[in-house]
Amino acid sequence: MSERWILHADMDAFYASIEQRDHPELRGRPVIVGATSARGVVAAASYEARAFGVRSAMPGFRARELCPEAAFVQSDMEKYARVSAQVHAVFAELTPEIEPVALDEAFLDITGSVGLFGGPLALARRLKRRVREETALTISVGVGPTKQVAKIACTLGKPDGLLLVPREAVRWMLDPLPVRRIWGVGPVLGDKLARFGIRTIAELRAFDPRTLERELGERAHELLALARGDDPRPVVSDRDPKSYGEESTFERDVIDREQISAALTAHSETVARRVRHDGFRGRVVTLKVKLATRRGQREPRLAGEDAEPIYPLLTRQKTLREPTDDGALIRRTVLELWDQLGLTEPVRLLGVSLSGMESRDREQLELFAPRRPPDRLGPALDAIHERFGRGAIHRAVDDPGKITPGMRKKRGE
Ligand SMILES: [Mg+2]
Repeated sequence: MSERWILHADMDAFYASIEQRDHPELRGRPVIVGATSARGVVAAASYEARAFGVRSAMPGFRARELCPEAAFVQSDMEKYARVSAQVHAVFAELTPEIEPVALDEAFLDITGSVGLFGGPLALARRLKRRVREETALTISVGVGPTKQVAKIACTLGKPDGLLLVPREAVRWMLDPLPVRRIWGVGPVLGDKLARFGIRTIAELRAFDPRTLERELGERAHELLALARGDDPRPVVSDRDPKSYGEESTFERDVIDREQISAALTAHSETVARRVRHDGFRGRVVTLKVKLATRRGQREPRLAGEDAEPIYPLLTRQKTLREPTDDGALIRRTVLELWDQLGLTEPVRLLGVSLSGMESRDREQLELFAPRRPPDRLGPALDAIHERFGRGAIHRAVDDPGKITPGMRKKRGE
């Protein structure tokens, strides 16, 4: 698999910049959005206002003390949401793998599209240019091999920044930074680390791991990995499914292992087929079992309603080392989970599900062209092929937007 590229994009002083754009008299002046009433808080501060120490979420009276000459502007969330949608549309020109973080901030997995746009740097430049064209606003961009690196690079470059950190430069960037820059290191943990003399990420990485583990438990490993620049968290796009599952209730309660095995096999195969069809893999296998012997009943909530019997529901999960779309592996895993349960009583329902989804080979994702709506050609082609046979129609290959991964392979790309 090719190198992973994650991009973090974040609009600069988003609300305040929009107000400065729309009110030329505010440009170059300290602008504070929100906090127009006595008890309000600062929603956003322009860079001119930040120079006075004004920050988001600061009480309005404090912002007025720090920067009495600022222009205080009422926030207009509807307008900001409209601009946010424009920015999101630009992201979607570049990759379908978008994880929104806030109205003005998102992670993009660009691994599958860097080839189409001339490399990660060219893609990032294009993103900045397109956002400026569409919104007349600036956005900062960080690019790196992991989410954390991309996010830090974005912050370091602000405002109007563009910082790309290749894997070999990750430590060079991280080392001098305060440990507080690491994901999840808040004031409490930061103080604790400071007591060990750990102030920078380099100092954290050099610290004795056993001592750290004694002090912080499991957490220590996670921190050390982040300090090394390792961060396996994927970009979770809003279009990714959360899980795939199949279950069935038996007509007659079942205890026979052969019957159980047959049901679990069928469910595993169906789940795997659906997951493969949609181009995903999953890491977490879950077995769901409902016992046939009722344990009490739920009291009726309404007069005349029957009491609802309660059948105990058991679930068991296993996280695989690698994400899978293999029915045989899912089957082995659920059978293992079933045997571990050691049940000696009949069951009435069995379910198998797969979650922790990732796109299969992100670089093999179907290519897409800028400003193209989701591909509706695929199903139509399938239908034509079914009716007239293969070879009846082919996609045009001169438009990169229509080249399928299969065609790319054939063309040796
Ligand atoms: Mg921002």
